[in-house]
Amino acid sequence: MESKTNINFKKETLTKLLNAILIHENEIIDALYFDFKKPAFEAVLTETGYVISELKETIKNINKWAKPRRVFPSLLNFPSKDYIYKEPYGKVLIISPWNYPFQLALCPLISAFAAGNEVVLKPSELTPKTSEIITKIISKVFDKKDVTVIQGGIEVSQQLLSERWDYIFFTGSVAVGKIVAKAAAENLTPVTLELGGKNPCIIDETANLKLAAKRIVWGKFMNAGQTCIAPDYILIQKNMKSHFVDYMKEEIIKAYGDNPSDSPDFARIINTKNCQRLINMIDQKKVIFGGQNDIKNNYIAPTLIDENSIDSELMKDEIFGPILPIITYEKEKQIDAVISKYEKPLAFYLFSENRTFTKHLIQKYSFGGGCVNDTMVHFSNKRLPFGGVGHSGIGAYHGILSFDTFSHKKSILIKSNLLDLPFRYAPYKGKLATIKKILDWI
Ligand code: NAD
Repeated sequence: MESKTNINFKKETLTKLLNAILIHENEIIDALYFDFKKPAFEAVLTETGYVISELKETIKNINKWAKPRRVFPSLLNFPSKDYIYKEPYGKVLIISPWNYPFQLALCPLISAFAAGNEVVLKPSELTPKTSEIITKIISKVFDKKDVTVIQGGIEVSQQLLSERWDYIFFTGSVAVGKIVAKAAAENLTPVTLELGGKNPCIIDETANLKLAAKRIVWGKFMNAGQTCIAPDYILIQKNMKSHFVDYMKEEIIKAYGDNPSDSPDFARIINTKNCQRLINMIDQKKVIFGGQNDIKNNYIAPTLIDENSIDSELMKDEIFGPILPIITYEKEKQIDAVISKYEKPLAFYLFSENRTFTKHLIQKYSFGGGCVNDTMVHFSNKRLPFGGVGHSGIGAYHGILSFDTFSHKKSILIKSNLLDLPFRYAPYKGKLATIKKILDWI
């Protein structure tokens, strides 16, 4: 594969990809709207714009990222020169989901190609228009032997997983993540699994409630709540709840008007099956705001739920829709009781002005990543690793970490022949004390 060693070729091809995306940007935005009415602003912010900036960053840094890196040698081997070489794994399979169908397909593809791999992408079957435009762009820019797109559903995905790959990068649900991990284990293929979870959003008594409501409405209802790092549920100090709910109502109306189904800024649920799943979760007796739905149009209004039981339908699994349960707490141990019920989440949010409490919670809980006093925006900093832990995923990417994800790090030690210290060679008699001293010293 020419791209394996030729950085100029990779840069030229990635620049071609950048130009193709810029030329087809409106078509991509239209496809995302067709597939589930993703608003144009969100399409640019979270899909095309994000991919364009990832491409620019990769083109700018690829020479630096690909270069062998010299590291400080160990005195045990004196004199030597030690290096880390990055090499492509080989054949990479990328399987992507429907919720950010352009970004989550293209970002790993860019890095896998930049690192010199051959790439096969299987985009989601649930966003056919977007998958079509992805296929069109990729086939225009890349040679088939370097990067190809194979469209299809579960069967195609399983067929691909039954083949031998050198790396598999999967974004999707925990359940399918397990299927991918099992298939990969067959050939000991390394994997990145970008999965989901139940992301808590804690609000303590010191929080700026009005701003918290604004930022939570943005993070929860963007993409109609179908975001892996959206806040899944609220845990709020009991005496703050009623003010918070008032602010939330205000912010929802400000963002989407009195009837969000008329708003051009509110997406739809991906399909009838998911819409029905979400409708079934809404217990109308607990609705404090929203709750309206229209299954014919895959619409569910931004909905606030007064939740008093962690055994409810809503609190079983990741919600992945515009429904936000609000649970109250009085003591920290009640926060514990809720969070510890679930697997380690992909994201964690805390709204608080109390630095001690903030530090304490960050250290106490394990989660993929998160924000204090905001939601979702940690995703946008390419210097922060993005990924889960435990059931929310394996591995992390973005920026240089994406390039590294698709590169095997090969250690090379180049030994000098000028000096050959005798102590390491057998017979070892009389050398034990010396080696202990040396090991102690270095
Ligand atoms: P999904 O797991 O149903 O599908 C993802 C991909 O896997 C699709 O391409 C699909 O065709 C394929 N697939 C589905 N079932 C399969 C099977 N049985 N065998 C083999 N392949 C199969 O996920 P989804 O519904 O597209 O996306 C939603 C999920 O993805 C949520 O759980 C969300 O949290 C998660 N997600 C995670 C991230 C992240 O970055 N961590 C990002 C987006 C979405």
